[in-house]
Amino acid sequence: MAALPRALRALGADARLLLPAYPAIREALEIRGEVARFQDLMGGGPARILRAEAPGLPLYLLDQPTFFNHPGSPYGHPENLPQRFAALCWTAAHLGRVGDSEGWRPTVLHGHDWPAGLMPAYVAYGGEPRPATLMTIHNIAFQGRFPASLLDDLWLPSRAFTPEGVEFEGDIGFLKAGLTLADRLSTVSPSYAREIQQDGGHGLERLLTHRNGTLRGILNGVDHLIWNPAKDPHLFSHYDLKHPARRAPNRSYFQRRLGLQEDSNAPIFATVSRLDVLKGLDLVLDNVEHLVARGAQLALLGQGEPLLETAFRQAAQRYSGRVATFIGYDEALAHKTFAAADVILVPSRQEPCGLTQLYAQVYGAIPLVRRTGGLADTVVGVSPETLADDTATGFQFDEANGWVLGEAINRALNLFSDPSTWRQVQRRGMLANFSWEGPARAYLELYTAIPEKGV
Ligand code: ADP
Repeated sequence: MAALPRALRALGADARLLLPAYPAIREALEIRGEVARFQDLMGGGPARILRAEAPGLPLYLLDQPTFFNHPGSPYGHPENLPQRFAALCWTAAHLGRVGDSEGWRPTVLHGHDWPAGLMPAYVAYGGEPRPATLMTIHNIAFQGRFPASLLDDLWLPSRAFTPEGVEFEGDIGFLKAGLTLADRLSTVSPSYAREIQQDGGHGLERLLTHRNGTLRGILNGVDHLIWNPAKDPHLFSHYDLKHPARRAPNRSYFQRRLGLQEDSNAPIFATVSRLDVLKGLDLVLDNVEHLVARGAQLALLGQGEPLLETAFRQAAQRYSGRVATFIGYDEALAHKTFAAADVILVPSRQEPCGLTQLYAQVYGAIPLVRRTGGLADTVVGVSPETLADDTATGFQFDEANGWVLGEAINRALNLFSDPSTWRQVQRRGMLANFSWEGPARAYLELYTAIPEKGV
């Protein structure tokens, strides 16, 4: 959400971002002043919209201390969730209808995931003028469902509580509301757009099939301001396509840092991930012994499901020096991992777009992915044909089981023993264009295709 509006602005659109005024966000930005004030929002008390500025990106911050005054990470505060994000959605609709005190009014509102799901509802039930609305699904597994008794508290009219409105199986469904009421829908890859209409829609398949004509798949990009191995401040040694040999010091640095043996011949397999059943990391656990037996090393950076955390910790204890586990969220270590690993494992059961396989390619690690969602759309699997026409960028497997992943690992290990072909695949990945310009053009086309009503 930092990169897309900047890319849209580079194409001439006046894109701006609306975010909750979490303390960390507020401190990081230059605040320009107040552009709206409300006596109360969703029962949380007084609120205001601040105009803020990040380099090259104008923002609006919803300042509502009851809802958003969480120091540190914004996640992990379950209280007032529906009121909090309803307030954000209502504010977006207000900006779209009335504009700010400086006379700026967006003609298109673009909401992302369930926290933004009620935005099209407030637009739909709020009268004219009606800005055009687009709802993007980043992960349909998270839907924001809350009890119907909150209808009044969330400033929704009773007529909104129907299957054509915000009602979902007797609850208020935030994402469902957005998917029903937005003018256009999108998700973050063409394959995921298909899968969520088939059996990957977590209960929303029929709705999405019904709205098929308005649904597009647009891949995410890579923010090259943050992900660039030639300039990345987190790396031990900078490198690029012209200086690939300068990548190697990152490997030994990483091995030392994680307590892995400094073995320059051992292929390093790594994963940077939330530990969640949909990420398929149990398949990696099934292959720990296999990797170690074949002389490889394995590093995991992640946090989440306690059972998976424990299992990876135990694997690191059992194979000390060959397997390393870092439980936690560490942005700097993530960068170091992509710069050091030979293979990035992404065995997801479902993956809307996936970013780690993109970062892997930009950083010269070869992704090994399950052929699903955005992983299928952004990795070209190694085969005799793709090697011959020099399009291969990674390894793919289909069935979500440990044995099939093990076969793909074997293919990766075989290629690793052929350094010149390995370098060919690595180079092709580093050459791939994952910039935000293409996705931004696709979104801009979508925005301009939606008619605005009542203006
Ligand atoms: P998802 O959004 O489902 O978690 P993505 O692959 O789309 O999966 O994006 C995950 C992002 O979070 C990537 O940028 C990845 O590097 C980062 N990430 C995941 N786990 C960690 C972690 N433990 N420490 C640092 N970064 C992480």
